[in-house]
Amino acid sequence: MSTFKAPKGTYDLLPPDSATYLAVREAIAAPLRGSGYGYIETPGFESVELFARGVGESTDIVTKEMYAFETKGGDRLALRPEGTASVLRAALEANLHKAGNLPVKLWYSGSYYRYERPQKGRYRHFSQVGAEAIGAEDPALDAELIILADQAYRSLGLRNFRILLNSLGDKECRPVYREALQTFLRGLDLDEDTLRRAEINPLRVLDDKRESVQKQLGDAPLLRDYLCDACKAYHEEVRELVTAAGVVFEDDPKLVRGLDYYTRTTFEFVHDGLGSQSAVGGGGRYDGLSEMIGGPALPSVGWALGVDRTVLALEAEGVELELPATTSVFAVPLGDEARRVLFAKVTEMRKNGVAADFAYGGKGLKAAMKAANRSGARYALILGERDIEQGVVQLKDLESGEQTAVGMNEIVAELESRLG
Ligand code: ATP
Ligand code: MG
Repeated sequence: MSTFKAPKGTYDLLPPDSATYLAVREAIAAPLRGSGYGYIETPGFESVELFARGVGESTDIVTKEMYAFETKGGDRLALRPEGTASVLRAALEANLHKAGNLPVKLWYSGSYYRYERPQKGRYRHFSQVGAEAIGAEDPALDAELIILADQAYRSLGLRNFRILLNSLGDKECRPVYREALQTFLRGLDLDEDTLRRAEINPLRVLDDKRESVQKQLGDAPLLRDYLCDACKAYHEEVRELVTAAGVVFEDDPKLVRGLDYYTRTTFEFVHDGLGSQSAVGGGGRYDGLSEMIGGPALPSVGWALGVDRTVLALEAEGVELELPATTSVFAVPLGDEARRVLFAKVTEMRKNGVAADFAYGGKGLKAAMKAANRSGARYALILGERDIEQGVVQLKDLESGEQTAVGMNEIVAELESRLG
């Protein structure tokens, strides 16, 4: 062991488990790629002000969880705690919203940083795959995103997740509700911090995880009863489209999310096998965010799914992903001449798309065959001095144990055909 350890709240992804993470990212991305979402990558840090304005001054993310710092040049930056504000910033900066058809549909995958209290499923460095559809107000778009996330989870074999759905209203109806909620909250027995939060962003109090707070919220007014006609109709259509797609959801009139920018459609994916870190993903509509960061009005919707918690959900359900073997062929040279000849063959195989590995370090036959078996390869290719003289190589099927001599010039084609 070195004298250093991974920083608190972080962990390393190592083989073989890391293959599951890659597969999860891939499974979440696949339905997006096939639905018109283009890949976007943005920097790991941004101006701290982007998140303060975009995510919201009153959110835990901004007040407590952000890794903010000043650079040597005097810039105030923050490691990105989430993806949406950056993606929208990038889209606006590149004028993507002017270049072609709206909505601009983008997907991303990357690392995010929050200074949280580390526990299972809650880390300081974590990974998300997200999708954003920018610049269109259309209930079918909200429905599309919910359906694609459902498809992603199902393609991984997950079953015990639930989709919670709510509408947070818009700039017409939300202020009226906000007032009503504030009046209600002022009458409760809450600590000072929470009362302050009730003044800045009362909806956030509904999301308070503490029992002492939750049990006082039973009679809280619900946004559902305050939605304006436009929001009601919009929400109804989202619900109908999602239902028509055969995707089951639960109406959750108390669902709010930890970011200030959400309007109208809001949803969360929860998994019942994860204890208190149950949210595997979440998202919603953020019609006001573009203007909040200095852009034009661009109604948008998106989600972010947590890769770490999705992997934990797979474990909780006992789902083992069928991961493709990384190596198909393992080459075992016996002697110096064989090493040169076989190494050239391995290079040729790789060029022809046959995944091959090699016994490095001058191992003897026994150790090399052990390495071959451990590699997960289907075939071993063994080359000794006599084989070289005869122009053949020994092809051993590591599943059946059967071994045959194959002509050196035929071996690549033979493996290609055997491996299909
Ligand atoms: P929570 O309520 O659990 O704190 P959140 O509302 O802060 O979640 P979002 O900002 O919506 O989460 O991020 C989307 C997803 O990213 C979450 O559903 C979760 O799967 C994942 N995620 C968020 N924070 C963390 C973290 N600290 N560690 C691991 N995964 C996280
Ligand atoms: Mg959080």
